[in-house]
Amino acid sequence: MDKVIVVKLGGATLGSHDTTIEDIVELQRRGRLLVIVHGGAKVVSEWLSRQGISSRFIDGERVTDKAMLEMVTAVLGGLVNKEIVASINNLGGRAVGISGVDGGLIQGRIKNEEMGYMGTVVKVNFALLEALLQSGYIPVVAPVSLHSFDRPNKAPPMLNINGDPVAGEIAAAIGAERLIFLTDVVGICDSSGKLLSQLSPSEAEALMTSGVVSGGMIPKIRACLRALSTTSITRIIDGIQPHALLREIDGGSGGTTIQRLSGVG
Ligand code: ADP
Ligand code: MG
Repeated sequence: MDKVIVVKLGGATLGSHDTTIEDIVELQRRGRLLVIVHGGAKVVSEWLSRQGISSRFIDGERVTDKAMLEMVTAVLGGLVNKEIVASINNLGGRAVGISGVDGGLIQGRIKNEEMGYMGTVVKVNFALLEALLQSGYIPVVAPVSLHSFDRPNKAPPMLNINGDPVAGEIAAAIGAERLIFLTDVVGICDSSGKLLSQLSPSEAEALMTSGVVSGGMIPKIRACLRALSTTSITRIIDGIQPHALLREIDGGSGGTTIQRLSGVG
């Protein structure tokens, strides 16, 4: 199979994602193989707050009780996923929405007790992704996983899982050509807010240790480092810019590249 590009759509690129959807359809028309992973934490928070439930985040990840897990599954696996898939198909693309539970794609376990039903990826079964790609479909993956390991009695069969590690683990498992995060900032910035264009894995690691990187950027960096076991290039770019994805594939500059040193030109 040809090399695959894994794209994570961050919360800010959802809803105002018309040009991103156009880019996805255009890339498919050009014969590129894409796997899309989406987030949507803010949409989940909106639906939770309608029920008077507020959320707590640790390192950018939601502490998840049973009611929240149900909402995550309904909103991310349902509404958010279907809006993306419908938009792609309406523009003439061919996409299928799945979640990490479909085809047993993502097998997870509880990350730690403190986080509730928040999962960590243990294993990726990419047979379904391969089948969809080979049939000409773009898999659009919602970040919900199987609860496969160490599941307590009567615990739900799924877990809430951050889209960033899902994208990183899928990229690592399929040996993606490139992993691209479309997010709501220009890239990874230093302590004075200046964009860092190129980082080695150890430089990226140091930014987490020193606390320059925090919140939702932490799981992105971890995902990039994980993907770099097989993926040559990982990118974190500004997904709010119109046609950010197409520009990226056409060799656009901007954003942050995390790459192994040997991979640098
Ligand atoms: P997404 O929906 O794309 O996952 P997140 O809000 O989870 O977005 O993560 C991106 C956020 O990470 C940025 O909006 C920013 O607030 C935060 N962040 C923390 N440290 C940094 C940093 N050093 N450089 C850039 N962004 C950072
Ligand atoms: Mg995030």
